[in-house]
Amino acid sequence: MTQYVYAFTEGNKDQKELLGGKGANLAEMTNLGLPVPPGFTITTEACRSYLAAGSEPGELRVQVTMALRRLEDDLGRQLGDRHDPLLVSVRSGAMHSMPGMMETVLNVGLNDASVKGLAEESGDERFAWDSYRRLLQMFGKTVLEIDGEIFSKGLDAAKAQQGVDTDVELDVESLKGLVETFKTVIREQSGAEFPQHPREQLDLAIRAVFDSWNTERARLYRRRERIPQDLGTAVNICTMVFGNMGETSGTGVAFTRDPASGHGGVYGDYLVNAQGEDVVAGIRNTLSLADLKDLDPSSYKQLLQVMRRLETHYRDLCDIEFTIERSKLWMLQTRVGKRTAAAAFRIATQLVDENLITMDEALERVNGAQLAQLMFPRFDADADKNQLGRGMAASPGAATGHIVFDSKTAETQAQAGQPVILVRKETNPDDLGGMIAASGVLTSRGGKTSHAAVVARGMGRTCVCGFAELDVNGDARTATVNGTVLNEGDMISIDGSTGEVFAGEVPVVASPVATYLESGLDAAVENIDDDTADLVRSVDRLLSHADSIRRLAVRTNADNAEDASRARHLGAQGIGLCRTEHMFLGDRRVLIERLILASDQAGREEVYEELLPLQRQDFVDLLTEMDGLPVTIRLLDPPLHEFLPDRTELSVKVALDRAAGTADPDEERLLAAVEKLHESNPMLGLRGVRLGLVLPGLFALQVRAITEAAASLRARTQNPRVEIMVPLVGSVMELFLIRDEADQILRTVEEEQGVELGIPIGTMIELPRAALTATRVAEAAEFFSFGTNDLTQTTWGFSRDDVEGGFFATYLDRGVFMVSPFESLDVDGVGRLIQIAAEDGRRTRPDLKLGVCGEHGGDPDSIHFFHRVGIDYVSCSPFRVPIARLEAGRAAV
Ligand code: PEP
Ligand code: MG
Repeated sequence: MTQYVYAFTEGNKDQKELLGGKGANLAEMTNLGLPVPPGFTITTEACRSYLAAGSEPGELRVQVTMALRRLEDDLGRQLGDRHDPLLVSVRSGAMHSMPGMMETVLNVGLNDASVKGLAEESGDERFAWDSYRRLLQMFGKTVLEIDGEIFSKGLDAAKAQQGVDTDVELDVESLKGLVETFKTVIREQSGAEFPQHPREQLDLAIRAVFDSWNTERARLYRRRERIPQDLGTAVNICTMVFGNMGETSGTGVAFTRDPASGHGGVYGDYLVNAQGEDVVAGIRNTLSLADLKDLDPSSYKQLLQVMRRLETHYRDLCDIEFTIERSKLWMLQTRVGKRTAAAAFRIATQLVDENLITMDEALERVNGAQLAQLMFPRFDADADKNQLGRGMAASPGAATGHIVFDSKTAETQAQAGQPVILVRKETNPDDLGGMIAASGVLTSRGGKTSHAAVVARGMGRTCVCGFAELDVNGDARTATVNGTVLNEGDMISIDGSTGEVFAGEVPVVASPVATYLESGLDAAVENIDDDTADLVRSVDRLLSHADSIRRLAVRTNADNAEDASRARHLGAQGIGLCRTEHMFLGDRRVLIERLILASDQAGREEVYEELLPLQRQDFVDLLTEMDGLPVTIRLLDPPLHEFLPDRTELSVKVALDRAAGTADPDEERLLAAVEKLHESNPMLGLRGVRLGLVLPGLFALQVRAITEAAASLRARTQNPRVEIMVPLVGSVMELFLIRDEADQILRTVEEEQGVELGIPIGTMIELPRAALTATRVAEAAEFFSFGTNDLTQTTWGFSRDDVEGGFFATYLDRGVFMVSPFESLDVDGVGRLIQIAAEDGRRTRPDLKLGVCGEHGGDPDSIHFFHRVGIDYVSCSPFRVPIARLEAGRAAV
């Protein structure tokens, strides 16, 4: 029999896959002896089975009954008992944290009878009725899928009727009235009475949590976070403890270190007389934990002890949810907490200094995406600014954009290329799409643990929250700050590192981490405050450690001296791909046009004569910049028509000129050439090595220019280490033919100049056939460089130029893949070809050098794969070089 239900005493923190993160950690805390209310977890396996079959697996009901009975026996109370009811919470909890994306129902077990029992037993009638109205509200929204707004409006109406501002001020009579209102809402909206039977409530709540795995927002979140869509969620059934039992009760969220900055100390928000989601929802402004110290010193002290225990146990920053019920502390959740990029680097090195983790482990606590974030520019301190005020610094970054007040508008405008800032009172899980689309998020309510803050931090989106002076009127599409009116469309700038909010657009400057990466530690820490310098030093320590342990070298893709120089400063160990076609643009385009229009070899030779000195100088510049480091130069790759005018435009122009009797013979000839070169699938057409074979002299020209450039630098006692690379090879024969031609030129130039250059010739592997025949291809190639862009295109048969904006959205949605294979390597398919080519190639030539120069060379996940299969280096755009260095180090841990 499959075990679908685990008591908290049965699990541990390593069972996240089965028990979800929340369930596994509740079990871990229970077994550490921390004050966790007793309960049990329904496994993700049960959820998967439910989602697949459309109904609960047969054994589940029995197992829940047994677990519930054990709980009731232990506590001496029955679920929903009319005298002294046991109440439970029903919470989602998947393997990966998905804050606010799935459902929770609290106070399950309350009904018309047990509410009275609860009132009597607790001696607090108000509390009992408040709990009941919460159950109706959550159950109605979550389980019965009634629009939450209807309940919120009912709550507002009750407050208005009693003449109070907050829900805590509602008295018993108002709450009883509200319970009736909510029951009516449920009857009218769902067509049935609110289920009074406690077990029925429980079963329906469990089912609603299972179903919430597949809500649109949850799917969108997972797609963004690259979480598989088929994992399912666990469900945690936990004895209710109450934060809404008056002034000595409350509920809170805390972090063992500051998740925004990484500084030591405890951080958190606390709400007196409140339950569950009130804190995260940002419904009321919260107190800080320091206030709790004054309110309830003994609970505060115990909380600190628990937090210390958790940090040393998990050896990481933990975030926790807790409730204080009449001065008794209860732990409701813990997990290794999400943090900003800066906090991640700071905390990792702090934990090393506290002897809790090693440098290798510290490296695993940070990642390339976080480093990328730290490289983002920030607002220029010297610029004129019109500061509107300051909210809470919830998620760092400097964001500027047009104000929008709702998610849909944010998405539409961002799609149209407009940067936008989403401005809301507070965000809720339905705002996810808008938060993804916006450059930044600004809210007027909620603390650092509000939904907006947590989600923005998770996705690296700049966020300022709790900007209380901001009065947002979403319906009127305006917001007011101290008398200044802001309209939709106005520019606004927010600084998620300081919480500052500015009217208009504020210019940005380089971040100190970017300065460090480009100019070194000393230059970066000059003139910055100690705190920022400390962050830069953390980055330096971790990146240096990555460099010291990584096996993969990191090169860059660059085709001019400027990019090469930038990349070299950023730590590139050479050039892995110089796309020479980029050297044929601009003024030189006419030369290519002449080349194409030349009617015979003599005409072409003339153009080559003109191109030779230009190309030679290009290579001299590049090799000078990369002196002493390897530079892989790829011979011309794209189809020639890319250098010619657009076929349709030119045809129209020629037709018009003909009609007007002003036909131009040159233009006519150009059109004829364009027509001749036109291909239906140019990406599969006359390009790369095929062009080299069909157009005599073209590759020879490039090889000569490369060789002469290297020879001239050698004569200047420099150390050019150039490598020649042939693109789009599918057969070893193609490569042999080009090699013969190239070898001859190499020898000639070496003889002419009296030098030995030893320039290796290699090939790109970007066609499945090349990968599958690598044993042969390696006979003619001294190195392989995987062109994973084309290899992905040709393996899948996806046009790399068309699919991303086209049907990929559907493919991602329907789970064909979780991330575009052009972004992150398809390990199973394209990766398999790479493995085959690597192994077979090295069988022929054991010292065959292997590189990757497609976009995947800078993608963190792909880098880990390349490390595993024995690639020697990755090559990526200059900006990604530090990211690749860090990830290559992480891959080696
Ligand atoms: C590739 O195909 O991966 C590659 C690097 O070449 P290009 O992107 O220039 O086609
Ligand atoms: Mg290619």
